[in-house]
Amino acid sequence: MSSDMVIVYHRQPYEEIEENGKTVLRENKSPNGIVPTLKSFFGKVDHGAWIAWKLADDPENPDFEKRIEINDDYGSYSVSRLALSEEQVREFYHVTSKEAFWPILHGFKERYNYDPVDWANFQAVNRLFAEAAAEEAAPDALVWVHDYNLWLVPGYLREMRPDVRIAFFHHTPFPSADIFNMLPWRKEIIKSLLACDDIGFHIPRYASNFASVVRSLFDVDVIERTQVPDKWIFEGTALIERAWPSILRHALHDIAISVTPVGVDVGHIDEIARSTETRLQTKEIQEETQDVKLILSVGRTDYTKGGIEQLTSFERVLEFNPDLRGKIRLMHVSVAANRNMAAYDEIQSEIEQIVGRINGRFGTLEWQPVTLISRAVPFAQLVSYYQAADVAWITPLADGMNLVAKEFIASRIDGGGVLVLSEFAGAAVELADAVITNPFSNRAMDLTIVSALEMEESEKRERMKNLRAAVKQTDVRGWVPGTLQLREKPLAVSAA
Ligand code: UDP
Repeated sequence: MSSDMVIVYHRQPYEEIEENGKTVLRENKSPNGIVPTLKSFFGKVDHGAWIAWKLADDPENPDFEKRIEINDDYGSYSVSRLALSEEQVREFYHVTSKEAFWPILHGFKERYNYDPVDWANFQAVNRLFAEAAAEEAAPDALVWVHDYNLWLVPGYLREMRPDVRIAFFHHTPFPSADIFNMLPWRKEIIKSLLACDDIGFHIPRYASNFASVVRSLFDVDVIERTQVPDKWIFEGTALIERAWPSILRHALHDIAISVTPVGVDVGHIDEIARSTETRLQTKEIQEETQDVKLILSVGRTDYTKGGIEQLTSFERVLEFNPDLRGKIRLMHVSVAANRNMAAYDEIQSEIEQIVGRINGRFGTLEWQPVTLISRAVPFAQLVSYYQAADVAWITPLADGMNLVAKEFIASRIDGGGVLVLSEFAGAAVELADAVITNPFSNRAMDLTIVSALEMEESEKRERMKNLRAAVKQTDVRGWVPGTLQLREKPLAVSAA
């Protein structure tokens, strides 16, 4: 019971590497992942705690220390590692979270798979997280829970610790009641979330959708609505929203619904972009691709990322624009993050098939239209590709935010490059100067990529200038989620 801030996030805040038979802890490789950002908040408190799971052969007698103390550049914090069996992890993470919740959150009703869910296990695992948080939290501490796989934690925690402030942040989209209410556990999930003091989202639309779900299931009053800032209202994006209910009241308890888009670490990317190593690497890529325009696509292998739709668009563009053959190249980076899950393995093989077909149909000895990369590219190298690309083609079918789009912009210290961005990526709300496209429309996809390739230099520069200014506004170093404002606010119910 000693931490002023407890972060509940299912992964550990570092990578564990085996070195000479010993386990050592290393910083996570991607500097823009959410983990370093969350850890940076420990610097603001005397002592922090992090709750995560760790795989154990025998969860009753794990062969590791359940709680470790860390003192590093981020501050001083403990990490409680909940020992979970392979079966518990598979069920809680790969089945319930990824097969049932993930498709619903992203609006893919047809992919939703209810049958294999072991709800009792999901509840039990969430309860373990809540118990560990309750044990670590100092009186009145702030407990900050992350993402949908821990949806039941706030409810359990509130019963155990009425004194603590509970905040929750969704890193994904949040659907409207029409889709969310397909989940048979909808009421239990929302009831748990209503135990929070603050519930955070990336963009106003997800906050509005959440409020619509709450209102469909519970009697709540909207105590406050907040206007969306003008800079985020432009008609070109499907995710446009004009206001959202920002305080809900339920059973005499006020719940703030906050909107704080996560950004990238602009200074850090700038540093990498300006380093000699990156410049040399960028030059090498530019020399290799000097006779062609390079289109870059980066994402995880996931049906939400729209890889298949993008590749088929590229195929059509080559088919109907013979003049572009030999003149453009697509580098399609699609990293498998969830191996051995049927849905993801299928997409991987479909992507491989389409790439093979495109290269077979149009390729020559001198020119290969698509290069597929299925392994993770180290971030510094990615920055070189961002810099060398003529166009970044980021076209998810649904995406909570999409940091790749922001990283591309932050890397373009030269002020060049065009971003073609799906209107269904949360980032599109902030990035009005991207070429906005609709990945569900063949026509829109094909036209926008061709227009990006043909864009005048002056227009490119003007758009990139505005995009760079927009990305700076949500620099992750200045990210102050509603959660943190909570620490300063009294919890009393405010007057309507
Ligand atoms: N990334 C990377 N190497 C790769 C592909 C992706 O380091 O080969 C990183 C990328 O830089 C970004 C993150 O993975 O920081 C992906 O984040 P994003 O928000 O775009 O998508 P998510 O995977 O979280 O849905």
